[in-house]
Amino acid sequence: MKITRVTTAVVEANYDWTYVRIEADNGVTGIGECFFAPGLTAMIRDLRNVIIGKDPRHVDRLVRQLQRAASGAGSVSGIVYNAITGIEAALLDLVGKSLGVPIWQLLGGKFRDEVRIYADCHAGTGLESVGPTMEPRHPAWYREAQTKLTPDALEEPQASAQRARQAVAAGFDALKFDLDVDTPSQEGQLRALTSDEIREMESRVAAVREAIGSGVDLALDCHWRYPLADVIRIAHALEPYGILWLEDAVPPFNSQSFRTLRESSRVPLCTGENLFTRHGFRDLIETQAVHFLSPDLQKVGGLLEGRRIADHAEMYDLLIAPHCIASSLGLLASCHLCCAIPNFAVLEFHGQDVPFWDDVLSGQPLPLIRNGRVTVPDAPGLGAELNEAVARQYAKPGEGWFSE
Ligand code: MG
Repeated sequence: MKITRVTTAVVEANYDWTYVRIEADNGVTGIGECFFAPGLTAMIRDLRNVIIGKDPRHVDRLVRQLQRAASGAGSVSGIVYNAITGIEAALLDLVGKSLGVPIWQLLGGKFRDEVRIYADCHAGTGLESVGPTMEPRHPAWYREAQTKLTPDALEEPQASAQRARQAVAAGFDALKFDLDVDTPSQEGQLRALTSDEIREMESRVAAVREAIGSGVDLALDCHWRYPLADVIRIAHALEPYGILWLEDAVPPFNSQSFRTLRESSRVPLCTGENLFTRHGFRDLIETQAVHFLSPDLQKVGGLLEGRRIADHAEMYDLLIAPHCIASSLGLLASCHLCCAIPNFAVLEFHGQDVPFWDDVLSGQPLPLIRNGRVTVPDAPGLGAELNEAVARQYAKPGEGWFSE
């Protein structure tokens, strides 16, 4: 069995949903999704030379070969791993289909049939579309969606409370909000917060908690923006609200800051969405710097690497709560790992405001997420396909559509 062709397609959604398709000489194809990155499809075009002509069944070895190829240009982590991760997912889909087994079987089998999903609620309206360097953009679907929103109907904190109620009404029992949206002048990192800004954050959390009651889990994200002293004040302010976790509370460069924060507060901590491979997680895990780890399974280095991170974390009594901003196809791939690890907590869903989030998937009952859960399919491979008739309507201009 040999890999014959590796191609990509990009959908211009809230982010660039970037798909890799791998074809083999047995007539089977596999598909995987990568986390967006500048230059991503060009990287995949270069990387494909490493695997074309090789046997797709040796997934781990191929990933090592891709890693070694990337290391020649100096990369032992970073966005080349977004490319490698999508390739690995496509290989697992291809191999699963060829063997007639689901991806979860290749990852060790299931601990659960349903994967619990949390709704990322951003803040206020969650509608956004950004390019690969986070520049805002307004594709046609975005403009349509925007005209349907009631403009500024509510101010904070009522806007967040309303959005929380809507997510709970849609069936979610775990939500995440951004804490850092309304703090002014975020141009530089480590800008000290005023007491009023911290009080505003607390008032939003209080309003959301009141809206959803005590039975819904609530996580909060800081996006690495604040210095340690301020995050300690934030964490203390949030202690009465039963927070599931405080995410990316301090800048990402110094795991000692997480440990200091952990010792200073009763609020559980989470980080990991920008870390790559098990090596990126090792220090955090072995020092129990945080309580939840959030590898992004479209960039961390692969589903098999996610399995290794989860196994390592389990030895330190830590939970895995994967980050996910992918389309329904990428989220479903993440679900295969989430069902196959014992220490899974909850998986992110970041597509509430993309009107076609479900529709790019075929071969699965839609909506994919029902009552805040995904039922992991038993069909071979991923258990679903890209609905190209729909996805292609949103193809990113200037990118090929599974062409050479
Ligand atoms: Mg985050």
